[in-house]
Amino acid sequence: MGGESLSEGVFLRRVEELLDGRVSSDPEVLRVYRRDYWPLSLLREVRGEELPSPLAVAWPEDAGEVVELVRLCNEFRVPFVPYAGGSGVTGGTVCDNCLVIDVKRMNKVISLSQEDSYVIAESGILLRKLEEFLNERGLTLRHIPQSYPEAALGGLIATLSVGQYSTKYGGIEDLLMDMEVVAPDGGLIPMRRNLVPRASTGPNLKLLLLGSEGQLGIITKAALRVFPIPPHEYRNSYVFKGFNEALEAMREIMLRGLTPAVARAYDGDESAVRFNDGRDLLLMIFEEHSHSLLKAKVDEVERVISKRGGESVGEDYVGRWLESRFDVISELKKLVVPAGLWFDTVETAATWSKLKGLYAGLKRRLRDLKGVHAVLAHASHFYTTGACIYFTLVYDADESVYWNVWREAIGVILGSGGTISHHHGIGLLRKEWLEEEVGPSLSYLRRVKSALDPRGLSNPGKYLG
Ligand SMILES: Cc1cc2nc3c(=O)[nH]c(=O)nc-3n(C[C@H](O)[C@H](O)[C@H](O)COP(=O)(O)OP(=O)(O)OC[C@H]3O[C@@H](n4cnc5c(N)ncnc54)[C@H](O)[C@@H]3O)c2cc1C
Repeated sequence: MGGESLSEGVFLRRVEELLDGRVSSDPEVLRVYRRDYWPLSLLREVRGEELPSPLAVAWPEDAGEVVELVRLCNEFRVPFVPYAGGSGVTGGTVCDNCLVIDVKRMNKVISLSQEDSYVIAESGILLRKLEEFLNERGLTLRHIPQSYPEAALGGLIATLSVGQYSTKYGGIEDLLMDMEVVAPDGGLIPMRRNLVPRASTGPNLKLLLLGSEGQLGIITKAALRVFPIPPHEYRNSYVFKGFNEALEAMREIMLRGLTPAVARAYDGDESAVRFNDGRDLLLMIFEEHSHSLLKAKVDEVERVISKRGGESVGEDYVGRWLESRFDVISELKKLVVPAGLWFDTVETAATWSKLKGLYAGLKRRLRDLKGVHAVLAHASHFYTTGACIYFTLVYDADESVYWNVWREAIGVILGSGGTISHHHGIGLLRKEWLEEEVGPSLSYLRRVKSALDPRGLSNPGKYLG
């Protein structure tokens, strides 16, 4: 609770009246909201350590209630944190003595325009529910992160997420047409008067909330592009002499405009764990609206692959990946936790000229580090300019090892020309390194935050202060 004289009790009563009782400060409920999936919070929890606890959790049902809640927080100087699916992996929702504003009851599809290919939905809708709604109508967002069963729309936008089909369809920023937002002072910033494919009408203030991680207000609604589900699909896997050869093939494929929907290049270490096959593998899924286009594309791609020394090994690997693609973490947990080990994932991106050096440097540095037992890697989001590499690390379940691993990883990444996060975001985990990557833009962004949130109530303690 902030420095005002009115008590927490009065504040909570006002919230209770406003929401007809849809607020709780029951310790069992607060326990659930003390952490997201940040592996360090999970480790501390398993060790029985106390985690920071929210003051209460509120469940608004529409944007009007969010406005009133945020106004109450301003009146009583109570910090608040927006919460959607709770599947973040960086501690983004961790907030001591805050009001958690869980948007999951704001979960309606508001409208769908089949002709204009967009959908408008409330920010608490689970991605899975939105995708099912679209699939029943022959449409898709093709935004399928590994956290698909749990993540919700507001969180996906606020963390700048990507899905497994991003190579063809882009990240959430490529799908987003517009948003409705409740500013940190309780003002409502509605959607545009007319939803249009593009507009040159000045900077779009609301786009600041892309990647804002709850620090610049609360997303309450969003309009997103949708696509007709392509009826023709081709799956195959290829083995390469090395991981770099698979990356080279992907570079050429991307530059020639032969974009697959899904492409996943696994290094031998990760293939061994995931597929019981220690070779460097490239898995691909292509999808198109005509069979002849699909065939022409696949023929070209397979010519590139064979020129680069790749050999087809059939679609079985793709099928196995599709079957297990949402539960990799729980599988890994079963393997490592009983052995006194822990895990985390480091996802980075770099341009082609830097990517191989970054990959080799990070593998070498982390493998040699005391307490580290495995460094697995795959590349799964490709661009004409470069790619994202995703490292899975297994190390001793010890907090000092944890931070040492991260410090070393970030040092190699920044020194090799990569980003500290391609899609998981900053949260509590990476905030101390953000300025090193983005430079003075962070202090300008902090000025924007102060202007929009003069009392510093919207998810405090994160990278904007
Ligand atoms: C097993 C697993 C696999 C994952 N795979 C992927 C992946 O493939 N791709 C990927 O990008 N990420 C992945 N993630 C990370 C996570 O799922 C994403 O960061 C996701 O976008 C978080 O969405 P959420 O709804 O769960 O957000 P939450 O965890 O609820 O919140 C995340 C952040 O967004 C803020 N926020 C939430 N709702 C709002 C709102 N309405 N307005 C403003 N701010 C808000 C929160 O304050 C917090 O800072 C994975 C996580 C797990 C556990």
